[in-house]
Amino acid sequence: MQIPFYVSLEDKVVVITGAGGILCQRMAMALAECGAKVALLDINKSSVDGLATQIQREGKEAMGIQADVLDKESLKRAHEVVLKTFGKCDLLINGAGGNHDKGTTTKEYLFEEDLVDQEVQTFFDLDDTSIQFVFNLNFLGTLLPTQEFAKDMIGRKGCSIINISSMNAFTPLTKIPAYSGAKAAVSNFTKWLAVHFSKLGIRVNALAPGFFLTKQNEKLLLNEDGSLTQRAHKIIESTPMGRFGEPDELLGALLFLASEQGSGFVNGVVLPVDGAFSAYSGV
Ligand code: NAD
Repeated sequence: MQIPFYVSLEDKVVVITGAGGILCQRMAMALAECGAKVALLDINKSSVDGLATQIQREGKEAMGIQADVLDKESLKRAHEVVLKTFGKCDLLINGAGGNHDKGTTTKEYLFEEDLVDQEVQTFFDLDDTSIQFVFNLNFLGTLLPTQEFAKDMIGRKGCSIINISSMNAFTPLTKIPAYSGAKAAVSNFTKWLAVHFSKLGIRVNALAPGFFLTKQNEKLLLNEDGSLTQRAHKIIESTPMGRFGEPDELLGALLFLASEQGSGFVNGVVLPVDGAFSAYSGV
């Protein structure tokens, strides 16, 4: 694959959660291209097996492992496989995350008449189990893999963690209170952990992607006929660069943060890759 630039990750062991997803697949391929051995963890094993084969065909090292970021035992088992096959983890990418329909309101603003409309999912209809699911997946799903894999980094040089936050962590996005709150927690945790691990020399940073069309947001951005929803148009109007991002446009920021040489003193940052969405007030 074409990468924006090469950083040396020769023999580094990289663990990526949610590696079967659209954004993390490209990240995994780019890291392998830079010489890393990539352990591809996903709850859905079939999504990472094909990717591992694809990376191996390029002469690079990769392995797909079934793992649920919310299940400590499953993470422990995945860790044992990584240790046995590749060795200790140098770089952890906490990529698993997402939203849930039932933690999403139908409308941006609440009007009195919506309260009696069965078709409208208002704030009052939000389902606590779904909200908990979203918080767990994004926040605990970042914390638990970190507890498991960061132990490998203690006493070793050049190790780091990259979390995946989102635009909604800076300012909440309409309709998705659970996902916004959970990603705000991921950004907050990134900074907390950067401080907590600083004396160990383990850097902790996050990427905050703007809008990239993937499985997790396609219901909000695409109509059934494939045309853009009103929300998608609104996003593009609020993105000064006037378009969605392409997954490969995250790779430069990823490789920069992954490289000790490139970003050895960059610690505790949440780096937006968003076509200036987060810089724009709308006026
Ligand atoms: P995606 O839905 O394509 O991929 C998510 C992956 O996570 C899937 O392969 C899924 O199987 C896996 N997963 C789900 N639950 C899991 C669990 N419990 N354990 C292990 N794996 C699990 O999503 P994506 O758009 O590629 O997003 C990747 C990350 O980027 C997510 O954290 C997402 O919240 C974040 N993000 C995406 C966008 C965007 O525009 N797509 C924007 C900002 C942030």
